[in-house]
Amino acid sequence: MMPVVKSGPADLIKANLREIMESVQGEGLLMGSRQVFVRLSGCNLNCSYCDTPESREASAVCKIYPQAGRRLNVREEANPVSPARLSAIIQRYFASRWVSFTGGEPLLQADYIKESAALLKPYGYRLFLETNGTLPGALAECLAGIDYISMDWKLPSAVGADYSPAHEQFLSLALQKPCYVKMVISQDSKEGEIGDAFKRIAAISSDTPVILQIATPGPFCQSPDMDRMLTWQGLGLQFLKEVRVLPQLHHLLGLT
Ligand code: SF4
Repeated sequence: MMPVVKSGPADLIKANLREIMESVQGEGLLMGSRQVFVRLSGCNLNCSYCDTPESREASAVCKIYPQAGRRLNVREEANPVSPARLSAIIQRYFASRWVSFTGGEPLLQADYIKESAALLKPYGYRLFLETNGTLPGALAECLAGIDYISMDWKLPSAVGADYSPAHEQFLSLALQKPCYVKMVISQDSKEGEIGDAFKRIAAISSDTPVILQIATPGPFCQSPDMDRMLTWQGLGLQFLKEVRVLPQLHHLLGLT
């Protein structure tokens, strides 16, 4: 596995990027909005339902896909990529005003997000952060530049460990910005762990929107039974004001 390049002083900060592409946001409360996705390499978890396992490893090149929703007409940029180069690529190839930092786990390169935000925001870009919600210290480093946060709440059945304390710290900080919590629900998810997550989230703020995302079937994961999903949505609504059941839209539309 290639190591993810760590950043240095501000003028030397660069990141290992997997790809830059444009599509509709397929998940959460911004579902359907047109976004540029900047996929950073590296991740600190290994979820059973991961649909981007290749992004957990560093890449020699960053692939750029100019055509929205399709991995076609690829260009390549040598890694690591500087924030200034990222800004130039986004402005050259894409029209969207939303830029999503995703992964992998983008907060492993939080200083890069911070520097990129400083360059992109003067041009009117809004920055969306899609994170596994386990690195509150890294969030604090770049929070000022982020406009909207999609935070995962990882269930122990999916990651093999209980990240609840880290998630609680993370959510307390993330709620300084517009934020929702996303819980991926598969056939292996357990009512006890879902109920525990609802209670912990509500103890921080019962206004936090929670998305129960239907896991897309993959090699190590099956979608949940819909009757159970509705039961768990009802359970969540005992503690929280907004609990939605959503699929991954881009898969339904056949888009990348
Ligand atoms: S946190 Fe995201 S990128 Fe990392 S293993 Fe889990 S699903 Fe994959």
